Amino acid sequence: MSTFQAPKGTYDLTPPRSATFLAVREAISAPLRDSGYGYIETPGFENVELFARGVGESTDIVTKEMYTLTTKGGSQLALRPEGTASVLRAALEANLHKAGNLPVKLWYSGSYYRYERPQAGRYRHFSQVGAEAIGTEDPALDAELIILADQAYRSLGLRQFRILLNSLGDKECRPVYREALQSFLRDLDLDEETRRRIEINPLRVLDDKRADVQKQLTDAPKLRDYLCDACKAYHEEVRALLTAAGVAFEDDEKLVRGLDYYTRTTFEFVHDGLGSQSAVGGGGRYDGLSEMIGGPVLPSVGWALGVDRTVLALEAEGVELDLPATTSVYAVPLGEEARRVLFGVVTELRRAGIAADFAFGGRGLKGAMKSANRSGARYTLVAGERDLAEGVVQLKDMESGEQSAVPLTEAAAELAKRLG
Ligand code: ATP
Ligand code: MG
Repeated sequence: MSTFQAPKGTYDLTPPRSATFLAVREAISAPLRDSGYGYIETPGFENVELFARGVGESTDIVTKEMYTLTTKGGSQLALRPEGTASVLRAALEANLHKAGNLPVKLWYSGSYYRYERPQAGRYRHFSQVGAEAIGTEDPALDAELIILADQAYRSLGLRQFRILLNSLGDKECRPVYREALQSFLRDLDLDEETRRRIEINPLRVLDDKRADVQKQLTDAPKLRDYLCDACKAYHEEVRALLTAAGVAFEDDEKLVRGLDYYTRTTFEFVHDGLGSQSAVGGGGRYDGLSEMIGGPVLPSVGWALGVDRTVLALEAEGVELDLPATTSVYAVPLGEEARRVLFGVVTELRRAGIAADFAFGGRGLKGAMKSANRSGARYTLVAGERDLAEGVVQLKDMESGEQSAVPLTEAAAELAKRLG
């Protein structure tokens, strides 16, 4: 029988590269955890209707990319393609918005699934860290989220990313613009599918990547010229707060994003080292989403950053994360009795909070020392019959190469002292 392989468009995370993914999730979530965002976890699947309504019937995500399934009980489910709809559903279900503490600030980390054409940076299973601030309309909240994402990327050492910023207007001004745009688009030379899109979600035509389409869009009406005064003032305030925080951004009036629920502030983080899959993260305000999924009016804002593409961005910039060795002490027993004794020392070290590992399988000194080296441990403990007869273990500093005999009973305390 041939061996199995990971399904098309997916890949496994294995050591040592998996450590980078953990570090990226940690780095992206750290600024959120320090800013009042609480951790939320939702199921990997939801009722398909949540995404159809929440993400939007006309989006690529819902029409083409969703993994849907019918359970044995007849329920229509979908593997989650994104996080916002689920998080808002969960917050409403738990009545978090009624606890009198708005905004409800939440962060999450997990796997997402989209049936896409696999290519570099585009997978069918990928991972995101996201944040949502639910129930408050305040430009400072939009600014906070953008600043925290910027801080996260910078803490990882990324520099070649840019922030694209736009406002999509609200339920007052967006419909007026939508109509103006529709009548402009209807006169263009476009294929059937795009013509259908004009009627369902004309703003997304602006996002068309094809050159022959983009060429025709040069004179399209600009949303900026249609923004109502309230939206304009709101957007100016977000821009001013970002500028005051020293966070550089570029105004991009064509930025619409692939989800239907965005209003007002919309933004995307792009990395210039990634070729065509350049978006490392994106987000925006979604003031109407709660009502769309049956909840009360809850103006909200959020983002999701792609972990996979962030790792690719690190590789593109040549950033090596400073990942400390996971093992501090490696024990190498020579013989049966030493195995029992050193295994006891390792257990004691671990209970004292010192990361320790052990040469399992009764291997010879040479092979075991090779594993000790590979583990990155700062110290090794070696003991053979003669050492045990003398009541000592050999403690070797792997950095300096110095070795000394230490009384067995003091080995753990000595290591704790040396490792600080
Ligand atoms: P794109 O325009 O590249 O398709 P998107 O607008 O669909 O991106 P979002 O839904 O905003 O992406 O998701 C936020 C982030 O999640 C993206 O910026 C990206 O980093 C990541 N992401 C989205 N889809 C994929 C995928 N198929 N594979 C890997 N990462 C993805
Ligand atoms: Mg997409």
